[in-house]
Amino acid sequence: MPEVLTAPRVMTGDQTVTDGVVVIGDRTVDWVGPAEALPTEYVALPRTDYPGSTITPGLIDCHVHLGFDGGPTPAARLRSETDEQQLVLMLHSARDLLGVGVTTARDLGARAYLDVVVRDAIAEGLARGPRMIVAGPPITVTGGHCWFMGGEADSEDDLRRMVRTHHKRGVDLIKVMSTGGFMTTGSAPWYAQFTAAQLAVIVEEARRVDKPVAAHAHGIEGIRRAVEAGVSTLEHCSFVTETNERRFSEPLAARIAEQGIFVCPTINVNAPYVAELTGIAVGEHLKAMHEMGIRIIAGTDAGVDNTPHHQYLGALEYLVTLGFRPEEVLAMATTEAAAALGVDAITGRLAPGYDADLIVVDGDPRADIAVLGMLRRVIARGRDYLPDSGRFDVSAPGTPFASPEHTVDLQLLIEATRRRQA
Ligand SMILES: [Zn+2]
Repeated sequence: MPEVLTAPRVMTGDQTVTDGVVVIGDRTVDWVGPAEALPTEYVALPRTDYPGSTITPGLIDCHVHLGFDGGPTPAARLRSETDEQQLVLMLHSARDLLGVGVTTARDLGARAYLDVVVRDAIAEGLARGPRMIVAGPPITVTGGHCWFMGGEADSEDDLRRMVRTHHKRGVDLIKVMSTGGFMTTGSAPWYAQFTAAQLAVIVEEARRVDKPVAAHAHGIEGIRRAVEAGVSTLEHCSFVTETNERRFSEPLAARIAEQGIFVCPTINVNAPYVAELTGIAVGEHLKAMHEMGIRIIAGTDAGVDNTPHHQYLGALEYLVTLGFRPEEVLAMATTEAAAALGVDAITGRLAPGYDADLIVVDGDPRADIAVLGMLRRVIARGRDYLPDSGRFDVSAPGTPFASPEHTVDLQLLIEATRRRQA
């Protein structure tokens, strides 16, 4: 139902309009501008004023896993659940994301193409959640990182077939595990999993069916090979070494910048705790990368260990503590994110014809990014979504690593740190 929203600040993605108005139609934004210039045709529409508030584009989480529950042992749960149980969890995760103002999310690893089912259910209005962009099972080597999602492939023929099958099943992009990861027993994040030639086959085949490739890459060699193959986004990109140090490579970063590859560092609510537990300054090279011209996007790996889907804000706050201005962080979560995901013609901005994806927050996020958690309204594709209040407290801090049964990845981190110190 068409409506006029007013607020002292409307951040469109291109500018901040003082005493601004957003006119939303059935699904899209009809008009944006200063209140004094509102065309007469909209004056009679129902109108809601939000004094003291800011209207911004809906947020985008560029890296989530709906099938992980964000508790202490998400991988174990995923592996023990049936597809039907997974589907219930994934719909729940999607609601959680929307409840904190995430109106678009990219799922970078799910089992059995359940993410395709969830994406379509949300798009059809059968379920509530953000617009989903989905990758299906991540392509990995046999026994490699997240093999239990079903994307194992080794030979070049297998890799081609896997990309083709993913395309046939309706994914939006291809995710490849260029290195090992922190979540899989027997997998180490510092080792490359595929050769450069194998990665090139994946990218070439994906390109043939017009799909971008997102590469999970922690270790330097795996990053280098993914860059060489021409992937579209690098996930994590942490420059991690065998002793769990961060060895930043400026020439490699320069190449990432030159090729226009987006980097999603998967900073999340746990960053301060990981830093404390392991002695790693999470994101320490991000400022340098940004200054070199690398386009950084916000994504949290929501769903992984101790990273619930409703704690997106913690990621943005940490990016500010790394030294980014709130406006830059907001761009990473809206305009830049939309560009990286290939949806910048429909979302990430407030402009006529764009989908009405927006949030209304109490206060000015330029002064304090935390006000993005003070939601007064969430609208996704023109439909209101009011968070299920009481089910979770969006302002509550995380419960990082509260479980006595630390997951394998954390053990790995701590052991590697000990080796370094020895
Ligand atoms: Zn991930």
